[in-house]
Amino acid sequence: MSDTDVVVVGAGLAGLRCARALVDRGHDVVVLERDDAVGGRIRTDRVDGFALDRGFQLLNPAYRAVRRWVDVDALGLQPFAAGVAARGEEGLVRLGNPLAAPSLLLPSVRAVVPRPREVLAAARWAAPLLRARPGRRLAASLTTASRRPDVSRREALDRAGVDGLLRATLDAFFAGVVLEDDGSTSQAYALLLTATFLAGTPALPERGMQALPEQLAGPLGDRVRLGTGVDAVETVAGGAVVHTGGTTLRARQVVVAVAGQDAGALTGALTGDPGGSGAGVRPRTKGVVTSWFAADEAPTDSHLLFVDGRSRPSGPLVNTAVVSNPAPSYAPAGQHLVQASALLGPDRPVPTEDDVRRHAGELLGADPRGWRLLRRHEVPHALPAQPAPLSLRRPVRVRDHLVVCGDHRDTASIQGALVSGQRAALDVAAALAR
Ligand SMILES: Cc1cc2nc3c(=O)[nH]c(=O)nc-3n(C[C@H](O)[C@H](O)[C@H](O)COP(=O)(O)OP(=O)(O)OC[C@H]3O[C@@H](n4cnc5c(N)ncnc54)[C@H](O)[C@@H]3O)c2cc1C
Repeated sequence: MSDTDVVVVGAGLAGLRCARALVDRGHDVVVLERDDAVGGRIRTDRVDGFALDRGFQLLNPAYRAVRRWVDVDALGLQPFAAGVAARGEEGLVRLGNPLAAPSLLLPSVRAVVPRPREVLAAARWAAPLLRARPGRRLAASLTTASRRPDVSRREALDRAGVDGLLRATLDAFFAGVVLEDDGSTSQAYALLLTATFLAGTPALPERGMQALPEQLAGPLGDRVRLGTGVDAVETVAGGAVVHTGGTTLRARQVVVAVAGQDAGALTGALTGDPGGSGAGVRPRTKGVVTSWFAADEAPTDSHLLFVDGRSRPSGPLVNTAVVSNPAPSYAPAGQHLVQASALLGPDRPVPTEDDVRRHAGELLGADPRGWRLLRRHEVPHALPAQPAPLSLRRPVRVRDHLVVCGDHRDTASIQGALVSGQRAALDVAAALAR
């Protein structure tokens, strides 16, 4: 006899999407979340009237899963400018999508006209995007249409001959998005991200990024039990038993929707499988540290993300931005909010506040001495690695009565987390119907 049809462990985007899809199909679902709020890696702290996401991140409304399952209008999105400002050897260069941000047309033309060879090389690098057949799902066509096997983005950029400022800017931009600066991410994934950036303008919700998981959780009501960490999941005849702090819960199906590096411990059966396409989880992760500063004067009026586009960057940051320019709701009236993000890893110590402040000031072209550090978020497991060859869909079924989901099963993104939750729900619904 089961207590419920399904227990979902973890109330991040994947677990919430999974629970919603199952509830919509009429199943009894309980979601157990260890933390004191939903959201997992998408949480927002309130500090002195500022909204500080736990690690700078952006929501791209062009994600198919977001368009399908999120009420984007209700989030009150505040878009960044569709481009990037790169501090190059010869000063600041602004590059962007002039269709989405007409104000970037002239600066972009000025930046690329003196570099016809670099522009041609960048076009060669992005050519598979143009070859992707219209009408087919882009992700599938990028991985199948290319006659060459998937390689790392570094190899693809080298082969295409992309160098100079455009190369440094692309490298710096991707370092902040995929959280690596060694170029090891799959070229297919880099192109997929590029297509998403061209299709939509990344933005921040009015009430902070946590508004996204909160919206997904809303209709689940008290089916979500916060502060309930799961110690173990055990499959038994006819179902599974979930152990949580001395109590147990029986379910016909259990969905483990925790991050990849935690899933193995709960399910027992999963093994490490870096970059592969088997049933194991992908334990290799990448980290980031975001420092949030309050400023009395806006360091710049730009709505762009700033990167260091020099061959030898002068500091640790992968990007910085005056977040309150595009997203005024992130700061109290009359105040300004700066984010500065650097990579974090075992052989990469947390940069000093002085280094972060100096580099951010230099990239933004402002004096950072009066800025006040509000908080520093260190996120060692921000994203699963996404190396070549790109594995777009990894199995969710572990064994009878036990399924996993999370961004480690699909792409390392909001899109991937939502899609994996949906796939897990469909698998569970089919099992419940048998
Ligand atoms: C700093 C940062 C920047 C990012 N930038 C972007 C971006 O710009 N664009 C983008 O698309 N994506 C970005 N991402 C990635 C995106 O946020 C994640 O892919 C997504 O949120 C992952 O959701 P998830 O449900 O798979 O996992 P998680 O969010 O990790 O959810 C897992 C949940 O399981 C819970 N849990 C774990 N163990 C237990 C247990 N034993 N019992 C109960 N509960 C448990 C956790 O508390 C958590 O709530 C970023 C992530 C970070 C951290």
